[in-house]
Amino acid sequence: MSSCWDSSKPPFTVRSHYFGKTVRLQMLQNAKSGACQEDCHYCSQSAISTAPIERYGLVPQQQMIDGARQAAASKAQRYCIVISGRSPLDREIDEIAGAVALDQAGNSDSDLLFTGPHE
Ligand code: SF4
Repeated sequence: MSSCWDSSKPPFTVRSHYFGKTVRLQMLQNAKSGACQEDCHYCSQSAISTAPIERYGLVPQQQMIDGARQAAASKAQRYCIVISGRSPLDREIDEIAGAVALDQAGNSDSDLLFTGPHE
């Protein structure tokens, strides 16, 4: 069985040269899942998908904050909040921004980053 650390593989040689065997942890929270109105054919969250995924609206702010704390405790260097949809609603931006503000107020040493939804 081949390992991703197989030093005989060319990609490993380049990676090893620049980064050794170190990795960077990044944690992602899907803060809103499924029920997107778009029809991107590759996406399990699209309106046309029949994939058996969880579908839920925007999670509570506390869940976003708890995710940030869990990421920090896990020594993740980045914490990303993503939501399904082509663009966020104003109220969703307000909710996420509020979670970021609350997290920063209670965890001022955090250097975690928050990112919004994708397009
Ligand atoms: S807009 Fe985003 S969430 Fe919606 S179907 Fe396309 S890729 Fe999926």
